[in-house]
Amino acid sequence: MRLSNYFLPVLKETPSEAQIASHRLMLRAGMIRQAAAGIYSWLPLGFKVLRRIENIVHEEQQRAGHVPLLMPTLQSADLWRESGRYDDYGEEMLRIRDRHKRDLLYGPTNEELITDIFRSAVGSYKDLPLTLYHIQWKFRDEIRPRFGVMRGREFLMKDGYNFDLTKEDALHAYNRHLVSYLRTYERMGLKAIPMRADGGPIGGDYTHEFLVLAETGESEVFYDSEITDLTFGDREIDYTDVGQCQAVLEEFTSRYARTDETHDEAVFAEVPEERRRTARGIEVGQIFYFGTKYSEPMGATVVTAGGERVPVHMGSHGIGVSRLVGALIEANHDERGIIWPEGVTPFHVGIVNLKQGDEATDAACEALYKGLQALGLDPLYDDRSERAGAKFATMDLIGLPWRITVGPRGLKNGVVELTSRRTGESEEMSPEDAIVKVNGIYAGL
Ligand code: ATP
Ligand code: MG
Repeated sequence: MRLSNYFLPVLKETPSEAQIASHRLMLRAGMIRQAAAGIYSWLPLGFKVLRRIENIVHEEQQRAGHVPLLMPTLQSADLWRESGRYDDYGEEMLRIRDRHKRDLLYGPTNEELITDIFRSAVGSYKDLPLTLYHIQWKFRDEIRPRFGVMRGREFLMKDGYNFDLTKEDALHAYNRHLVSYLRTYERMGLKAIPMRADGGPIGGDYTHEFLVLAETGESEVFYDSEITDLTFGDREIDYTDVGQCQAVLEEFTSRYARTDETHDEAVFAEVPEERRRTARGIEVGQIFYFGTKYSEPMGATVVTAGGERVPVHMGSHGIGVSRLVGALIEANHDERGIIWPEGVTPFHVGIVNLKQGDEATDAACEALYKGLQALGLDPLYDDRSERAGAKFATMDLIGLPWRITVGPRGLKNGVVELTSRRTGESEEMSPEDAIVKVNGIYAGL
């Protein structure tokens, strides 16, 4: 993309309504614009990051064997009356009435709708196990929407639902989700720690939240510092292998790590004092096993091999896709702006032309731009007639992890400069080598 053709409405001033870094930076970098309280338009740069996060979530869900579909945002109130949640959910649910006076609601989550889909089509144990998921907008009429996309009213969530014959099978689905979530967050360059949590209105005996440690997080968390050393890495995992998934769950949940709802001082005290940590965290996902809570009242049953009709065991599993954009920035920024991890960056590399209009410099930039694109990379070329300082400031603000700076002086010696946004270190090399180097950085991501 050429910046002269793009829509990047960066702000010079720090918006006064934004209290935390990610909200400020998303507004300043022209990623979002508030449409109403807790409701945002995703401008081109923000939309790109959102899509990249969504893609990683899709890839990792499908790698785990989960099947994508798409349910609507509006749901019939009748389904929620069946489960008993229409009245229970309270003020957070946005209720709507259509012209025929039928009650609808903007879905805050989808347990009822997916259970209805399941019961209409599945009747035999032979169709199990099954996990269906979608990535769709949700609405929760939060009393205090704040921190930009972190606590919005309309937000994008991946929600998945497993259907299994037995509790044992459903717990394997739970473990599978835990493993796939570990992989998902790591691919984004994020450390999200599974912590024992509370069921809340969805209910459930087994549940973990995934938290990103950050001072601005809304949850208070307590953990054994050893847990922050764990990484899933690039180990191979067979998602159908019950033992393997169980072993990963045990590895990542055996140390003390809990949110304030489940925190237990007495158990925490058993952690050696030098490893006890109290901190704040951003919830970026949650997994639940809740058994037959919805399948029983809604009649989602299957016939077993023995001919008996039984309600299926279920769980639901969510990732805060739009909140992740904010969480990623909270974890990756400095005083100059955002620093995107390579896994989610909106553009792979920025090209800064130091002397727009100079024939040799323009030609070198064009060659770089086309050369990078030819390798499937997505560069952002700042081809505006701006001062170098302004171009650098924009690149630093929007946080592309790599920048290639091209100017007449370097070109005389046949070199351009490749700079890392994270370390600030620069290296001179030929334009061809810069292309090879950038390509190498993204290979395998
Ligand atoms: P919270 O405790 O933060 O209100 P929750 O536990 O009610 O969240 P879940 O039902 O577990 O949320 O939803 C799954 C994920 O969706 C959460 O882990 C979070 O990342 C995201 N999410 C929930 N509420 C919001 C919101 N208002 N704005 C943005 N993301 C949200
Ligand atoms: Mg939650």
